[in-house]
Amino acid sequence: MDEHQQGRQDRERAAGNSRLIEDRQAGRNTAARPQAHRPSRNSGNGRRTAHRHRRYKRGKALYIALGIRAAFALIVLLLAVGAIRGITGMFRHHGQQQAEESTEEASSAEESAAPEETQNPNIVTSNGRQLDLTKPMVAVTFDDGPYASVGNQIMDTLAQCGGKATFFVVGNRAEKYTDELKRMASEGHEIGNHSYDHDEKLSKKDAKTIAWEFNSCDEEINKVAGVTPAVYRLPGGINSDTVRKTLTKPLISWSVDTEDWKTRNAQATVNAVVGHVRDGDIILMHELYQSTADACKTILPELVNEGYQLVTVSELIQYRSSGPLEQGVQYTDFHPKSGDAQAASSGTPTVDVDQETAGLAASAEESGSAAAPSGSSAAGSSAASSGGEDNTEN
Ligand SMILES: [Zn+2]
Repeated sequence: MDEHQQGRQDRERAAGNSRLIEDRQAGRNTAARPQAHRPSRNSGNGRRTAHRHRRYKRGKALYIALGIRAAFALIVLLLAVGAIRGITGMFRHHGQQQAEESTEEASSAEESAAPEETQNPNIVTSNGRQLDLTKPMVAVTFDDGPYASVGNQIMDTLAQCGGKATFFVVGNRAEKYTDELKRMASEGHEIGNHSYDHDEKLSKKDAKTIAWEFNSCDEEINKVAGVTPAVYRLPGGINSDTVRKTLTKPLISWSVDTEDWKTRNAQATVNAVVGHVRDGDIILMHELYQSTADACKTILPELVNEGYQLVTVSELIQYRSSGPLEQGVQYTDFHPKSGDAQAASSGTPTVDVDQETAGLAASAEESGSAAAPSGSSAAGSSAASSGGEDNTEN
């Protein structure tokens, strides 16, 4: 090889290198595009350069292909691992869920089995709270409402001490106090029927009128509050033969008369109750007076402190009556029968005050005499004391 040849080769090599660099750059810029395989420009540098270039390109393509395959394999691997994890996690979760469910089933099975087997059968759930049937209970009742400004305070106090009460309402007042009646129903209090017009001479009227008074009140309460009264209280507590034959729902009187309508004094109302209550009593108050709302703020928590459960009249009947109630009988209380702590009493009927014996008493209820306080003795004594319950307040 002479000098001339050597120089040519060197030049060729140098040209080839610079072409290679150019092609590398071109390759880098166009690697991703198939149209990079444009016609070769190996015009003057000969086949060697072209060959090198092809080799380089093949090598590069190989590396890219390998890289893509490796990346693909890695992605597949990652996906597979993820899927396996996901599936096992799913199974694990499913297993946990099953375990939890079976635990729940077991515990709910225990619960449902409990009343019969393990738990105390004297604990019952009623109106959203538990009652212990072996512990004393009293029914606090409020007549002549609804009257929101007083009734809502009473319900606030009942809510604070977890008690339920019965409101014997007058049908023709219902439309004015729909929200209050709805609250009574929604908070688990009982709405009793105290007739549509609170006519204290109702018991003297004919059967049709008596039936209309109570049916209309039932319908009105149902329309407003969505519940139908299960218990009735006669206006003034005055019964009669016609009433006895006509009304079929339980007639409820009272055993503790606070005379709140007469004193309109909170302390006097408190004094009439605290220390004068026994298991199974039905307490009479009226929903019309602020003094009654004030008295309840003392009376109701105090009764709870003394161990009384504040129940509705229907609860008292359900848990303290040993049998169905008799039609036309007014019940004053559901005292436990002595020596029969478990089953309690069948209820104490009043000696009814008929219109004749009520005499001139315009409002036997207000006098506290119409329903005998308890049992057989009390009917006659106070029929003469008359008094006007202010029932026009609203
Ligand atoms: Zn009344």
